[in-house]
Amino acid sequence: MSEETFCHFHPDTPTRLSCVSCEKSICPKCMVQAAVGFKCPECAKANKSHIEEITPRHLLIGGLAGFIIGTGAGYIWYQLSVYGALISLAIAYAVGFCVSKAISRSIGSKIGLKIQVFAGIITFISIAYNPIVIASFMTQGVFSSLLSGIMAMSLWCTGCIIKILAIVIAVWASVRHFRI
Ligand SMILES: [Zn+2]
Ligand SMILES: [Zn+2]
Repeated sequence: MSEETFCHFHPDTPTRLSCVSCEKSICPKCMVQAAVGFKCPECAKANKSHIEEITPRHLLIGGLAGFIIGTGAGYIWYQLSVYGALISLAIAYAVGFCVSKAISRSIGSKIGLKIQVFAGIITFISIAYNPIVIASFMTQGVFSSLLSGIMAMSLWCTGCIIKILAIVIAVWASVRHFRI
């Protein structure tokens, strides 16, 4: 006396599987692999839009966390990058990695283009225009304004190619974490 169940989305396909979220019957044709078990196409879609949804609060909290970590890590990169291209690029990767971790830890698992661009910009600033480095130029009294500090960073060119490569690697390392 076993009652046969059919897929909610494919009424002629018998199945024993059901969605872990809404418990609708699903079959191998329509089930979507989720973190735990399988979901129906509707719940999988709803979940996807949820993790891609970025609110201003996310940007504020994630931005703050990413900025603090990125500024610290970027400053370490600036100090240690004089020890060679390999060290510079390796630490640049770590900077991007740390920024992405700081953002995802503070706002939860979010992915998608918006958060990618956001993480990329924070990482770029952390390396290319590190606030601590700019501030240290300013306090040395050599430069008197924020603008000249920023210019000093741009002209800081002990191997411009390495610096550009480091920026690219760091941004890539932070952005890849949020790809769909
Ligand atoms: Zn469902
Ligand atoms: Zn189905």
